[in-house]
Amino acid sequence: MQPHLAQITPYKAGKPLEELAREMGLTDAIKLASNENPLGPSPLALAAIQEALSDLHRYPDSHAYYLKEELSRHLGLAPGQLILGNGSDEVLDFLVRALVPPGGEVLSTNHTFLMYGLLTQAVGGVFRIAPLKDLRVDLPALSRAVTDQTRLILLNNPNNPTGTAFLRPEWEDFLEALPPRVTVVLDEAYIDFADDPQVPQSLEYLREDRLLVGLRTFSKAYGLAGLRIGYGFGPSGLMDYLNRLRLPFNVNRLAQAAAQAALKDRAFWERTRAVVHEGRVYIYRELERLGLSYTPSQANYILIRVDRPAQEVYQAMLREGVIIRSMEEYGFPEHIRVNVGLPEENQRFIKALAKVLGLAG
Ligand SMILES: *Cc1c(COP(=O)(O)O)cnc(C)c1O
Repeated sequence: MQPHLAQITPYKAGKPLEELAREMGLTDAIKLASNENPLGPSPLALAAIQEALSDLHRYPDSHAYYLKEELSRHLGLAPGQLILGNGSDEVLDFLVRALVPPGGEVLSTNHTFLMYGLLTQAVGGVFRIAPLKDLRVDLPALSRAVTDQTRLILLNNPNNPTGTAFLRPEWEDFLEALPPRVTVVLDEAYIDFADDPQVPQSLEYLREDRLLVGLRTFSKAYGLAGLRIGYGFGPSGLMDYLNRLRLPFNVNRLAQAAAQAALKDRAFWERTRAVVHEGRVYIYRELERLGLSYTPSQANYILIRVDRPAQEVYQAMLREGVIIRSMEEYGFPEHIRVNVGLPEENQRFIKALAKVLGLAG
């Protein structure tokens, strides 16, 4: 076995909801742990899947011609500037494999998406971090941390799990200062939920002569996490290289059909945003009433300080039938993360949290 593989701690996803419920004898557990869409999948996507089912004996279109056309229109980009993945995780994997040689450096931050470190380890790269400042990505510190070995910078904005976002002026300074040989990836899994107009969109900063890649996913705002489809966009020369790493049928037929329909489902997208924005306000208000501190979020989840071991709070919440995430692995031993659910799920979360923490609910 290659020695660097021994260093990898596999990604820990939550237990299946059905299994947890079964183990604990719960009949009505709710899951607010993986930042999924509480409204379910986009209805237009569901209809497209149903229609595509009878063609399942056929291989998918390797180049996803129609989906790329739709995405091109949606984003205002040429099809050659796009790459599709089995989830945006897969596009991240292409980027790391294409750009990071053994010993090459990937730069990111602490308290961020765990996949970045794992993918770097998988290629024998060196994962370096610049610490967050006040739970926000510190772009000047990242700029200063760039070395001659830095190949790739991985950022997500809004950041998972803090929910904070950096704004245009700091982002523009950062891009300006970057050595032109370093590729920057802006993972925008939660960009749909940002409501501050000062949050930059990678799309607006794309240039053929700039090594900037934007990543988006259908897993969150479009409610298609189970189907595994995401995409990246950037300079066509770089996308051409990434495509060489792509297995021919990485995005299945149902995912292609669903994603194409979901892009046109504006009503669902709007409804999702409204549920998240209203839910965030409700949860903030209730946390304040309970005297708990939280980080205001530009995403569909909220980081909450519980001032006791997060793992214990997670377990106790589980017994109440509310599945959330302990943030211990993310470097926050006394924080939990909850994603915004439907109004009744948010209420249930608050009630359970008050009970578990012994606060007047
Ligand atoms: C959820 C998430 C993604 C999306 O991953 P998929 O593979 O597209 O499901 C990407 N980046 C971050 C930071 C996420 O939290």
